[in-house]
Amino acid sequence: MHGIWDTIHRLARRFNEHDAALGLNQDEQWSLQVLKIAEETGEASQAVIGARGINPRKGTAPWEDAHAEVADVAITALVALARMRPDDAAEYLDRHLAAKSAKFLLSGPASVPAPAEPA
Ligand SMILES: [Mg+2]
Repeated sequence: MHGIWDTIHRLARRFNEHDAALGLNQDEQWSLQVLKIAEETGEASQAVIGARGINPRKGTAPWEDAHAEVADVAITALVALARMRPDDAAEYLDRHLAAKSAKFLLSGPASVPAPAEPA
């Protein structure tokens, strides 16, 4: 995991330098980085639409396109966290993941409600 974070922090510093050269302040930089997550999410959605062949004008695309876009979402989100928390992004994510996952992983098997009877 540290190999991932080393690269993520290098990307974060690179984008910080780029945005600073453009004259963007910290709030602007962070805001635009979060918008980049939304951009990548849109690309992932577009790839799923392609994989499902929903648009008759475009045919189908391989699911691998969606895999790559989902990875882009994850990378972009980690870079956002590293830009906002350069000193403790990994530790912050570890704590947040532990808190978020506890309700799913520590409560035993999930119970699935029965489907409703048709009227
Ligand atoms: Mg992408």
